[in-house]
This record gives sequence, structure tokens and C-alpha cells, in this order.
Amino acid sequence: MEAGSLLRFAAASGRFTPGEAKLAASQASFLCHSYSHRYTWLPFFQICSKKRAFPRPIGNRSFCTDSTGDFFSTSKRRSRGPVMAAKKVAEGGKKEEGKYKHTVDLPKTTFGLRANAVVREPELQKLWEENQVLKRVSERNTGDRFTLHDGPPYANGDLHMGHALNKILKDIINRYKLLQNHKVSYVPGWDCHGLPIEQKVLKLMDEEARKELTPLKLRKKAAKFARDTVKNQMNSFKRFGIWADWDNPYLTLSPEYEAAQVEVLGQMAVKGYIYRGLKPVHWSPSSVTALAEAELEYNENHVSKSIYAIFKVTALPPASTPLLEEFLPDIYLAIWTTTPWTMPANAAVAVNPRLTYAVAELLPNSDGTAEVPVDGKKGKIGNVLKSEEKKLYLIVASELVPKLESKWGMKISVRRTLSGSALEHCRYIHPINGIECPVVLGGDYINTESGTGLVHTAPGHGQDDYVTGMKYGLKWISPVDDEGRFTHEAGQFQGLNVLQDGNSAVVSYLDAQLSLLLEEPYKHKYPYDWRTDKPTIFRATEQWFASVDGFRDAALEAIKQVKWVPSKAVNRILSMASGRSDWCISRQRPWGVPIPVFYHVESKEPLITQETIDHIKNIFADKGSDAWWYMSTEELLPEKYRDMASQYRKGTDTMDVWFDSGSSWAAVLSKREGLGFPANLYLEGSDQHRGWFQSSLLTSVATTGKAPYQGVITHGFVLDEKGLKMSKSRGNVVDPNTIINGGKNAKEEPGYGADVMRLWVSSVDYTGDVLIGPHILRQMSDMYRKLRGTMRFLLSNLHDWKTENAVHYDDLPVIDKYALYQLESIINSVKDSYESYEFYKIFQVIQRFAIVDLSNFYFDVAKDRLYVGGSTSFTRQSCQTVLVEHLISLVSVIAPILPHLAEDVWQNLPFQHVMEDGSVAKFVFELKWPRLNGRWLNMSADDVDFLGTILQLRSEVNKVLENARAGKLIGSSLDAKVFLYATNSSTLAKLEKMCMASNDADALHRIFITSQVVIINSPTHEEAAYSGSYSDPSSGEIWIGVARADGLKCERCWNFSTQVGSFVEHPTLCARCYSVIDVQQPLPAAAGVN
Ligand SMILES: [Zn+2]
Repeated sequence: MEAGSLLRFAAASGRFTPGEAKLAASQASFLCHSYSHRYTWLPFFQICSKKRAFPRPIGNRSFCTDSTGDFFSTSKRRSRGPVMAAKKVAEGGKKEEGKYKHTVDLPKTTFGLRANAVVREPELQKLWEENQVLKRVSERNTGDRFTLHDGPPYANGDLHMGHALNKILKDIINRYKLLQNHKVSYVPGWDCHGLPIEQKVLKLMDEEARKELTPLKLRKKAAKFARDTVKNQMNSFKRFGIWADWDNPYLTLSPEYEAAQVEVLGQMAVKGYIYRGLKPVHWSPSSVTALAEAELEYNENHVSKSIYAIFKVTALPPASTPLLEEFLPDIYLAIWTTTPWTMPANAAVAVNPRLTYAVAELLPNSDGTAEVPVDGKKGKIGNVLKSEEKKLYLIVASELVPKLESKWGMKISVRRTLSGSALEHCRYIHPINGIECPVVLGGDYINTESGTGLVHTAPGHGQDDYVTGMKYGLKWISPVDDEGRFTHEAGQFQGLNVLQDGNSAVVSYLDAQLSLLLEEPYKHKYPYDWRTDKPTIFRATEQWFASVDGFRDAALEAIKQVKWVPSKAVNRILSMASGRSDWCISRQRPWGVPIPVFYHVESKEPLITQETIDHIKNIFADKGSDAWWYMSTEELLPEKYRDMASQYRKGTDTMDVWFDSGSSWAAVLSKREGLGFPANLYLEGSDQHRGWFQSSLLTSVATTGKAPYQGVITHGFVLDEKGLKMSKSRGNVVDPNTIINGGKNAKEEPGYGADVMRLWVSSVDYTGDVLIGPHILRQMSDMYRKLRGTMRFLLSNLHDWKTENAVHYDDLPVIDKYALYQLESIINSVKDSYESYEFYKIFQVIQRFAIVDLSNFYFDVAKDRLYVGGSTSFTRQSCQTVLVEHLISLVSVIAPILPHLAEDVWQNLPFQHVMEDGSVAKFVFELKWPRLNGRWLNMSADDVDFLGTILQLRSEVNKVLENARAGKLIGSSLDAKVFLYATNSSTLAKLEKMCMASNDADALHRIFITSQVVIINSPTHEEAAYSGSYSDPSSGEIWIGVARADGLKCERCWNFSTQVGSFVEHPTLCARCYSVIDVQQPLPAAAGVN
């Protein structure tokens, strides 16, 4: 059943309305008479039997018990005379109401109905902290170690629902493992380096301060910012009720972490997995540095020199030969670029395989003269267009033909069209260096919004070009130096500034070579250096890479050894790991762990050896990685190289933050006591297939040959109730802090406490995206209250419990055995769901159990014997025996999800719970998972089936009672007598047997909560004013009749009985109550609530 409908069902059933939840609700008790001459049972039954109270025995197959009760009815309709009267007395009401009220065992507890979570939860958390419960329980446990390794959230900003979902899922698992006797040590972590933190810090500074900034100053500020954020986030996590080693978290900025990370890098370097290569980055020639995206300011008014140029096609692959051969040798690729200076670095022309291309013949206008734009401000026509003899077949995107006609001032005749993919592997001559280059297929960055639909590809100067270049293994150059001047690789352009004279020189050269169609100014957004306000360029620089190829097979093998939840995730990570290119691990940023490498001043050769790594690792472990900046090269070099220090300079690159967090298995799992490598479990959002799961896998496989985890769980994203992404602009952001403590408007945003949020986490199928919003939270809060009410019922009816009162299992009434059977079944099912991490199933099972099995049935029926059955009676004690088992079991199985509720229950326990080892459990987590009670499950299948039938029959009986009530025949169900007739003889016999139960708990009228039940031998009865029927395939049809109960109403229990009036000293009591009073020796009003 879907959660919503169960909640609706619960609401409709009327359970736990505020009034109802007051556990003082009581009812009546009932007598079970045998009208058979053959059966007599308990003493008071003997009394009624002797007196032949029932005047019309209907043959010797007629049996009767007394009661009312309906599965769906609320006890509003029921008699609650004695309890209510006693309650009034306790509250100072009139004494004369209920002479026997002090003989009623009212529920009593210090456990509040309201959670008052905003206040109470922090008190409980303090209790745990002060008593070091997590640590003590983990140390006491004798099972295997369980290591859930925390993926470090980024130390930037406040926590959102995604953090809450993630950490609470982890906490549920850790707490469950504790109950399962595992040793659990959970070390929380934070990812502290990287650009977003730098940006936050820089934003807080004014321009002057920024100019003064040195790497060390920036690092100091960034570290403070990160540590402050860690503190804030940690406090929020604690408030969620997350149990962790908060005093010893791991921070990627801590010296020991940095040292471990350097060690991982060193191991990879020694194995030959780390190399240096070229990769394009934003580069500022004016400040001679690489820039991050965040350090760029886009100038809207930048004007570039854009050109249309042509490259002569020289060779056709077989696929395009028949299409294009006839145009050789006058066929050209037409390209457009806003950076002509990148032309010397051209390595290919890229086309989009999904676009259609045309062979466009350029023709003079009809009057024989080219109508070209005026040279000058608007642009400059290339020489090639001015030459009238030259035949030109240009390949351009079909869609752009009209635009290009007007742009170039030419008429175009489309001679042929073909798909982009047909152009792959055509070859052309590079217009500057004369080398033959290929046509390649690029991605969707090639479009028809501008240009020609063919893209001049210079992998050293553009990200898309770089990716395409890597795909085709293109040989490419980036012939520009740090100051933005062409290098010798650019031939005749060497020494020219690419943003000034170098650019013009390239354009002139192309024109001279008859390769320029048109040059024109082009205004567009262009990235500027935020410090110098000068244009930047995109330029390949040397970067450090981890060669994934070197250990890809091992990584793929390791992935297959891991248990992935959900299981389909394995395909995702496999395809990512098999498809990924080498990992660029260097960044040109100060806020990170330095790549500890030295470069030879002259040869530029990097120096990274086991000795240098070990030496630097020790320095970092001691002083932190700031040392890289404030120590000299000489100090940073190991002994062996110290004499040569002047020949070396230290590198300035730092490591990609994914290398930081990806080393956590080495820095934490392998270093901290109490943790294991590989971890039992990693659990993060599904985006981490690309991130942490993968970076951790790569570093671990590269150095240890195996995955750092045995299992990986992924969860989806948190969306609003409509399934929309949360955003400030939409105003649909749900803030975990507001859920817990409430918002400004306490009515719309009440403070629900952490447990309601945790209950929500348990209720969702987190393998996909999950929803949350005010409506869902209200449902969760309702469910929480119901569970709290369930626990309160248990506590309050055990206020006088003593272990020695326990009734032996074999002696329990069937209904009690059945209750234990159900309890054991749900505990097993809940355990399975914890083991498979399907918490939403637990939520559903517990919800149904609490509402349907307990509140609507077992508790409902039990109230009679608990309240008026007599304090020391067998039926009350057998019921309490069952309730104790429920309390202990339920409190432990809900504890991982609702630790505060569970602990609150435990702290209000009215008795000491002694564990198997003789110790007293002072905190709920000192309990263990309920031990298996195999015999509880060993009830005969027949008994289980028949009790199932009785429960369904009970609903049908309730419907008939409801009709009788509507027809004013009865008020409460205790006013009724029920007749039953079964067509199936075996069913009839079983019903008769229920009536002959040798205890007061199994009698049918108790189960139905009516005053009497009579089994008759025909499907009709003259007294029955209302009737109905029930049938199922195994029991056949059962006829139900309802009449008014016989006899008078007992003052104490409100059951009707023909015995009322028979006892001289107690003329208003029924036989059962008479015998209870007799045993109890009435005391002055002692009963009370709370
Ligand atoms: Zn009574």
C-alpha cells in the first residue's frame, strides 16, 4: 500500500485522534458464558453457568461469549465508564462517579504524548554525548567491524536536503549495525580545498586587498573559511541526530591528510601512472598566468577580427569520392573563426555528422560583377573573391547558404548536398604550413547559428577542439608563449603578439595565399582577466595527468567485485570507467595540495622520485602543505638533491580536489584505528559515479589493485512535492533546519524535529529522485504521532510490570501467541529490509503493524483485560507479557530510524531491562537486535489461518454493529449480543471452540468487544434485528446476527450480564468484576492518570 493511502486509511479509521490517543480510553469487560451444559471453566463462569443466566439454550451446539468491537470503529462509541470516571476523580472530579474506579488499572506513564522535539531531541543528544553511548556500545560489541566511509561534503555553505538525506541514510545503517553487534566507527569528513572556496574568500575582499594577495595569505583565509563552514555544518549534522566521531573528523586540509594524499600521488608516480601533457586553459598574457573561469570577466563589447577562410581539399575517402570527385581540384572547405591567430595551430576541420552540407559554387552576380561590401569599416573582401577566373566550389552547411550569399556578396549555386558524416576523413592542405590535415566529426558545438557549419579545429586553443583532437589522436601544437607571443613553432610569425600584430599578420598571409574570403569585425562577449581587464586567450599548457589506460582493466575488474545498490548502477560506473580519458590532476590554483614536483631550471625536466615524495610527505605531515610556499627549494628537496637545489625550482600546480577526496581511503580508512580497508560501504548521490566513487576507485586501484569499497549505495536528488528542482527563485526550497526547528510562521512551518525528517528519509525509495514538501511532512508528522502513541500505550500499561509476572509462552492464550507470531514476523521482515537497505519497506511494515495489527486490533481488544481484568489476573499478566515483548522489540527496530523517539521511550521505561549478560540497558542502543524467537513463528498454520479469519469476521461483525447503532438498537458495542452461524461444519466447530476458550482472552465476545456471542445452528435468529455475513473460500459462509445484550450493565466494566444483581455485597457488578474485587480487596481511590 502506498504511504498516502495508508495514512488516509488511518485517518478514516479515527485512531489516534487527540482524544482517542489519551490512553485513558478504556472499555468494558465482558463475560463469556457457556450455554452448553457440558462446559464450565473459570470460577466466575461456573457461577453464571449454575445460574443458567441465558434463558434459551439453543440446542447443545449453542455457545456464547459477550462483547462488542469493531475493527474500524473507534472507542468513542464504546463504553468507557469506569476509566473515564476514574480519570475524572484523578483530575479532581466528583468522587461519586464510579464506586469501583480505584479498582481499574489505568494506564500510567511519564512519557508524553507530544514529542516536544525541538526541546527534547537536543536533551537526548546531550545525554548520548555525555555518556559516550556510541563509543561504549561499539567497544562492547563483539561482532565484526563495520566501516561506512563518509564521502566528504564540500565545506562551502549551509546544508540542504541532499545532505540530510545522505547523512541520515548513513546513520540509519550505522545504528542498525550497532544493534547487530558490530563495532561501528564512523568518521565524518569534509572536502576543504578548491576554487569555490577561493571564490567565496575573494568575494569577501575588496579590490585593493585582492591585489595584495599572496598564495599564503589566500590559503590562510581559505582555510579559516573552510574550518568555520565545517563547524557550522557539523552542528547541523549533529542536530539531525547523526552519530559520528565528531571530535575527530577528517578534513582534506589537515596535515596528516595532505601527507597521505601526497603518498598516494607518489605511489602512482613511481608506478609510472603520472605524466605531463598539454591541455588548453584560460590564459592571461597580461598577468602571465592561467585563470579559472571565476577569474574571468566577460566583456560584452569586445570586437574580434573574424575571418572566413578556405582550405583546399586534396584527397577524398572512398565514401565521398563519387559525390565530390568531379569538383576536384577546385573544392575547398570554408571555415569561420574569430581568432585568426589560432590558424597556425590548426590540426583539423570538424563537421557535425547530423548536419547537411552543400557543395556551393560561387558565381559572379548576373551583371557579371561581384556585388561586394565596401572594404573598410564593415569588412574586407579577400583577394580570392576578387579574382574572376578562379573556380570555387565551397563546402558549407546547406542551411547557411542564403546567409553566406549575402555575407560574401556572391551568388551561390548548390551543386550537391551530402551528410556531414560523408565528409569524415577528407583531407585538405593546411594553408600555412602545407601539411595535409583531416576532416573529423565533432559534436553539437558545431551548429548553424553563425559561421559556415565547419569548424577550424586547433586543439591547443579550445576545449571542444581539444576533446575532438583527443578523440582522433590529432597531432597538435600550441605555438604561443606565456606572454602571448608566437613561438618558433608558428614559423614566420614567431615573436608576434597573437592579440595584436600576430593576428593581423596571419590574416594578411592567408589573403596572400588566396585563402581569405572575407575579414570583418565581430562584436561578441569575450573573456577578460578580472585583474588586468585585458583579453585572455585559450592556450594549451603543460598539465599533470593520471594515465587511466595504465590501470583501466584492473579498475573494470574491481568494479565487478563490488556490490552496487541499486544493481543497475554497475553499468553506469563501468561505462564511465571504460570511456574516460586520462585524468588531468593539476590545477593552477593556490588553494589545494601542491603537486610536489621540482623542475630543472634549464631542461624543464620534472623531478619526482620516491625520495622527494617521502621527504615532502614528512614535511607536510609536520607543517601542512603551506610549507610548500614558505620553505625554500633547498629545504623541500631531500638530502640527496640538496646540493643541486639551485638547479631546480618548485612547481606551482596543486591537485584537482577530486584527487583530495579520492585519496580519503588512504588518509582515513588505512590510517585510523577502528576502520577497515576496503570499507564495507560507500553511500553518496548518484552524481558521484562521475565524482568520488570514481576518483576513489582510480587512486585505490592504481596503488593497491583493488576497490576501496565492498559495497556502494547511490541515492537520487531531493525535489519538491511536484517533482521540481528546488530553487530560491521558485521559492520551493525545503530547508532541513526549518523542518527541525520550524520557520517564521509556526503554523505553516512547525518545528517537527529531526525524527520526523528521519522518518521521511526512511519512507522514500531513495534509489530514484525523492520528493519533499509541506504536505509530505505533515503526513510524516501524523505517522510519527501514531508511532509515539503506540509506544505510549505499551509504556503506560506496563507501569506495574515485573519480570517475574511473565507468563510462560506455552500458557499464553491463542490471541497472545498470535500477537507474538505477528511481532516476530514483522521483526524478521524488518531485518531483511535493513539488510537490503530498503528502508521504505520498513516504514510500510511498521506503519501497518502499528495501526492495523496493534492499535486497531490487539490493543483495542486488550484494553478490557488490562484495565478491568484485575491487576494480578492471568489475562492481564499474559497481555503484559506480550506488551513487554512488543515494547522491547519495537523500540529497538525503530531506533535506527527514530533514535530520539526510541531513547525517549527508553528513558521513560517503568522497569529495568536486564540483558542476557546480566547488565541493565540504560540507553536504547545498549539493546541488541531482538533475538530470534523461532517458537513464536511455530504456531500451527491452522491457528494462524483461523485467527486471520476471525479478524476478517470481526470487520464484518463491526459493520452489522454499525448498522445496529445507526438504527438505535445499541449505543456502544457492549450493548450488543452477536449470533454466529457457520455453514461449514469445521468452521462452526472452531467458532465453538473459541467460545469455550479456557481463558478470558480468547473468548469471541472479547475479541469482538461485545457483551455476548452466541453460536447458533441455523442462519437466522428471532432476536437478531440486524444481520450480515462473511465468507471466504476456506471457512465458507458465516452468518452474523446482532441483538441487544442480555442482562444488566455492570457498573465497573460496562459489560451486560445476567449476573448483575446476583451478588449481595456488589449488586451492580458482573461475575467477572465481582471476582476481581474479591481478590483485590478494594483500596481507597489510588488509580490515576500519569
Ligand atoms: Zn464487570
